[in-house]
Amino acid sequence: MRVIADYHTHTVYSHGKGSIEDNVRAALSAGLKIIGITDHGPGHFFIGIRGVPAFRRMQSEIERLRYKYPDIEILFGVEANIVDTDGTIDVPASILRELDILLVGYHKLVKPQSAAAALLFIKNFIAGWTGGAGESLRRLNTEAITAAVKRYPVDAITHPGLQIDIDTFELAEICAQYGTALEINSSYGEELDGYIEAVLTTQAKLVINSDAHTPSRVGDFKEAYSLVERLEIPRERIINLEGNMAYKRRRLGS
Ligand SMILES: [Zn+2]
Ligand SMILES: [Zn+2]
Repeated sequence: MRVIADYHTHTVYSHGKGSIEDNVRAALSAGLKIIGITDHGPGHFFIGIRGVPAFRRMQSEIERLRYKYPDIEILFGVEANIVDTDGTIDVPASILRELDILLVGYHKLVKPQSAAAALLFIKNFIAGWTGGAGESLRRLNTEAITAAVKRYPVDAITHPGLQIDIDTFELAEICAQYGTALEINSSYGEELDGYIEAVLTTQAKLVINSDAHTPSRVGDFKEAYSLVERLEIPRERIINLEGNMAYKRRRLGS
C-alpha cells in the first residue's frame, strides 16, 4: 500500500509553518507524484487565506513552481469552510472556477454568513464543551454539509466527524452519488475510526491525506496506513493509492 498523492497540506497562507515551495520539496523527497496546496478558506477566523489577493499570489507562486519542479503535479486548492446552513462555502466564485482541487471541511471558529448560521455555530461550540450534540443539531449540521456536496464540485470532505457532529452515513451516501471522496486523515489517529466505519457501509470512495501543517509531515501517512489495516478497508476504495490513481486523475485538473 503506497499513497502517491497528498491532496491536503497547509502552508503559511493559513497556519502552516512552511512555504508552498517547502511543501513541494518535501513531497518530492517523500516520492509523491501529486501535492495539493489546500490552506484554510478565508472564512476561518484568524488563520484563513486573506481574500482574493492572497489566493492570486498562491496561484502565481504555484504556476512558477510548476516550471521549477516538473516531476510533480502541484494543485492549487483550498480547504473551504461551511459558512451557512444551506451549505455555502467561503470561496469567491472567481477563485472557485480556477481551483484544481476543492476540499471542504466543517470547522468551528468560522465567520457565519447569516443569523441562522451564527446560531448553529454557537450551538456547535456549546456542544463541544458539554460533550454531545442533540439530534436536531446533528440534523442541521448534516443538512449543511450535504448541501455543499450537492452545490459545488467537491473533490473530498476533510476529516468527516471531527469537531462537528454529523451523520456520516448520510453524508457518505450523498458523496457516493456525487463522486466526492471522504478523507482518511493521517493527523487524528483512532479518533476518526467510528466515522470511517460508517463510510465503509456505503459505496463512497476514500482518500488518504496527511493534513500536514509542517513540511516534514507532508507525505506522512503512518496513522492512515494503520487505520486502513485496523479497519480492514478494501484497497480499491482508496483513490490515491498507487495503482488506483486513474480514477482520481480524471476528476482533478480536468
Ligand atoms: Zn481541517
Ligand atoms: Zn487541513
